[in-house]
Formats: sequence, C-alpha cells, structure tokens
Amino acid sequence: MTETTPSIFSRIISGEIPATIVAENDDLIAFEDVNPQARVHVLVVPKTTEYATVAELAAADPELLSKLVALTQQIADERAGGQYRLIFNSGAEAGQTVFHVHAHVLAGELGEGTLV
Ligand code: ADP
Repeated sequence: MTETTPSIFSRIISGEIPATIVAENDDLIAFEDVNPQARVHVLVVPKTTEYATVAELAAADPELLSKLVALTQQIADERAGGQYRLIFNSGAEAGQTVFHVHAHVLAGELGEGTLV
C-alpha cells in the first residue's frame, strides 16, 4: 500500500516535522512517542511507506521485520535493561491510528493509556 497523503511518520522521516530521534539507519527510524504511555515509549518505523501492518511487512519483507525487531531489542538494552513490551496495533478497531507499520517499545512504569 503506497500512501496518497503522507502519514505523520512519513513527515517525520522526511524531516518535515520534528521528532526526538533515538536511532536511524537506511531502513528504519526510531523516535520518542509524543504521548508516552511508559517511562520508555519509542516508536520504531520502517522508512518504506509500503506496509500498513506488521503482517503485511512480515509477508513481504521478513528481513526488514527482523531488522526492526533487532532495533527494538537494542533500544530496550540501552534504556531498560533489555526488558520490554513490543506492541504492534493492527487495524483501527485494535487502536491503530497511523497506518504506516510501527512498533511501540514500552518499558518501565506503565501509564493509564489504552496501549497496555
Ligand atoms: P495509538 O494512537 O492508539 O497508539 P498507533 O498504534 O497507530 O495508535 O500509534 C500511533 C502513535 O503515534 C501514538 O502512540 C501517538 O502518540 C504517536 N504519535 C503521533 N504523532 C506523533 C508525533 N508527531 N511524534 C511522535 N509520536 C507521535
């Protein structure tokens, strides 16, 4: 699925809107969630706009999904002793609001949000 209107994450990837970036490489970007639900709440996002959900990404590009998971572990190792929750919301009824696949890395004290 290619975006017709750039998602908020595409606009972060292009530098059009600011974010607190914690890691970046050719394939992926990781930045602080603007509305954190835990002490650590980082979003890890493939730069490609082709995939809305983790299942689409897994089917089409398992190597990229593997790289994404490895980066989530690296962030958790650096910020939370390697202990974390990894959440992918898939579909509006499951709470997905940005249809550009992204992993929520959550660690530390959890908040009162709907994610966890
Ligand atoms: P939900 O909004 O239910 O968490 P998603 O799984 O689609 O749905 O997650 C989108 C996430 O993107 C939310 O946690 C939201 O706080 C975050 N977000 C939205 N806009 C920005 C932004 N400009 N910078 C960082 N995070 C953002």
